[in-house]
Amino acid sequence: MFFVVLQTSTSGGGGSFFSSPWWQFASLMSWALLIGLWLALVFWTYKDARRRMTGSLMIGISVVTSLVFPYVGPLFYMILRPPEYLEDVLERDLEIRAKELEISGAADRCPACQTPARDDFLICPKCRRQLKLACRKCDRPLDPAWRACPYCAAEVKAPVARTEPLIEEDELFA
Ligand SMILES: [Zn+2]
Ligand SMILES: [Zn+2]
Repeated sequence: MFFVVLQTSTSGGGGSFFSSPWWQFASLMSWALLIGLWLALVFWTYKDARRRMTGSLMIGISVVTSLVFPYVGPLFYMILRPPEYLEDVLERDLEIRAKELEISGAADRCPACQTPARDDFLICPKCRRQLKLACRKCDRPLDPAWRACPYCAAEVKAPVARTEPLIEEDELFA
């Protein structure tokens, strides 16, 4: 495009250059490009703000800024935006909470081999130690200390809680 414009300017002479159709076409294309880039940056700001901010007011301010101040607005937004995506913040919070639970020992673990166990596990998946009893009526996992099932209100008969593993670990790996 630039080459073509140069050619017409040398052949047509300096005076008529700015009124030549080539120049008009070139400047029209430049404007279209600039406006397209401006709108694309506004759209980008909106998309990025939605991944980083929760309040619709803050998202709105970001979008309006990049709309009112072409090119400079998105630059300001990039400097001032929250550094992390919301999903990353959430994930990190969950990780921290899991770690806290682990440290405080609140997460369920097999008392024999310390394997992490979910609170609905009936036996330890590693050493097979009995962790919970299944309700006779509704089959839900019950704490061996409970006298009644909290889910179906069935009475728990004198529990025969097994404290020894069903199979000795030595046997298993023999
Ligand atoms: Zn175990
Ligand atoms: Zn039950």
